[in-house]
Parts: sequence; C-alpha cells; structure tokens
Amino acid sequence: MKLILRKEDKAKVNGIQKTIVSRLCWGILLPLALLSCTQLNTNPNSAKGDGKPQVVATSTIIADLTEKVAGDEIHLAGVLKPGADPHVYEPVPADSRVLETADLILYNGYNLEPGLIKLMNAAGGKASKLAVGEVVKPLQLDKGKGQVVPDPHVWGNGENAIAMVGAIRDSLIKLSPADREKFTQNAAKLTDELQQLNIWINQQIKTIPPDKRKLVTTHDAFQYYGQAYGMQIAGTLIGISTEEQPSAQTVQRLVESIKKIGVPAIFAETTINPALIKTVAQEAGVTLAPHQLYSDSIGAKGSDGDTYIKMMEANTRSIVEALGGKSTPFQPKKSNKTQ
Ligand SMILES: [Zn+2]
Repeated sequence: MKLILRKEDKAKVNGIQKTIVSRLCWGILLPLALLSCTQLNTNPNSAKGDGKPQVVATSTIIADLTEKVAGDEIHLAGVLKPGADPHVYEPVPADSRVLETADLILYNGYNLEPGLIKLMNAAGGKASKLAVGEVVKPLQLDKGKGQVVPDPHVWGNGENAIAMVGAIRDSLIKLSPADREKFTQNAAKLTDELQQLNIWINQQIKTIPPDKRKLVTTHDAFQYYGQAYGMQIAGTLIGISTEEQPSAQTVQRLVESIKKIGVPAIFAETTINPALIKTVAQEAGVTLAPHQLYSDSIGAKGSDGDTYIKMMEANTRSIVEALGGKSTPFQPKKSNKTQ
C-alpha cells in the first residue's frame, strides 16, 4: 500500500495538535536566524586573488561532492550550513555577495532551494551556473489538484550521485582546464567509492525482513532511496517541501496507516523539528528510531554524517537497525583509481 499524505487535506487544526504544529513551525524558523554563509575554503592559507576560481555550492551535499572532486584547486563556499533546511532557507546579505563574486555556482535545482535560486537569478555577476541535481531524470510527484512537480531529492539514489559527480567534474574542467587531470582522478576515486556504497546499501537493506522494508519519514525526501534500494515509502507527515504544514486529519491518517502497515519504527530527520513525528510515533505505538535521518543536508562536522557517503551510511544503518535488519559498517576497498 502506498500512502503519501498530502497538503490538500486542510481540515481544521484543533487544540493540542495546533500547539504541536506551531512548535514545529518555530523549530524550523528559529535556527534560520542563526544562519550565515559557510566558507569551505579548501586552502585556508591561500589569500584570495591567487588566481584560483571561486566556486559556490548551495546545498551541503553538493558542497561535499564538489570539495572531493576539486581538491584544493578552487576556493569553495557553501551557502547552506549542515542541518539547515534548503526548502525554507531565507538568504542573508552575505549570500548575495558570495553569489555575485562567484565564477561558478553549483546548485541542486528542481526547486530544492527556492530562496537561493531566486537570489541567484536576481544577482548580477559573471558566474556560470549548473543545476547539478537536474542532470538526473526526476521522479514526478503528484501534489494533487493536477499539480505535478519534479522531486528534488535526487541524491537518495547513489547512481544519481555518480551522475552528479560527473557533472561537477565537467563544470570544474571547463572552469579550470589546467586542472583537468586532477579533477578527473578525484572524480574517478569518488565514483569508485560511490559504486561500492551502492552495493553495500543493497546488501544492508536485504537484511531487513521483506515485509518490514517500509519507510515512514517526516517529509517526502526518500522516494529515490526507496526506489533504488527496495524500500517502500509507506507514509510521510509532510510532502516534498517542508513549507507545508500537516493538518490534524493528515496526522491522524498517518497514525492509522502506521498501525495498519505494521512497521516497528518511523523516522525523524535532522533538518526538521521532530516534535510532531514524535507524537505520531507515540499515538501509533511504534518506536521513533533513535538516530535521525540526514535528509536534505549532511551532518555537522564530526558527526557520523558529515560527508555525503557517511550520511548515506548513517541513514542506511539507522533504517536497517530500526526495522529489524542487521547492519555492518561500510568499508570501501581501495581500487587502482585511488592510488
Ligand atoms: Zn526535502
């Protein structure tokens, strides 16, 4: 059974649930006030003006993949900080400056980061722009009322991440042809690890009993993951954009459907306040998995999800353990490409 609850269900929100929804809302808004542009300069000793190109990446996932491909041949600035929610991010003045001075802007696209895309299109400057996520053919999601939109969460499938790495490599070569060999080698090394990651995720998911391979998450960010690795997306509290707020009826329907599908656990996400999904878990009588999933952002430095590969590993281990499988660490082997 496929149940994805939609925004159109706008029944009146009553008493206690209204309070919870309001808390969820503040949980999203408050951290935004603290955000600013993160500099991921891979060569901090090098003063700007050293001739290295300025590259800006919007999402933390794209920043991580770009850093791995570029090495220290560029100045890289990431706009979103780990843990920030790209759907609702409101740019600050520093973001305009960094976009205006960029030589290349790498963004996800498919409207993952609407505030930043709007700012990028309005900003002047000389930058080439690449929607890295849009090199992947999207899944189309029905939002109801005849509205169909591309699902931006393309990185959930490791094969898509490999395509994104290829696009990042090509755009960097175009920007700095002299570094072609280095970018090509770095991309090959990363691609090799991503291929191993794919195999590993498939093996891990297979340890979950087949009737428990069902994901219930806070927002609808795991369709690509589910399709790639054989997990059914059995329910989500909110749709593909976290701007949406669930109604009391949506919450109630999700609770009922969780009881029916019989999953032992459901999942919170690091970029979204967990208050409401916690309530859903309590009302449905299931566990809220102890490890939140990294959905739209890698984790903070030092966490177990502070790179794209580590975030995919941490998510998979959390899903496998919470749904009755047995996970083992991801230990990629070095190939010839990594010499
Ligand atoms: Zn999302």
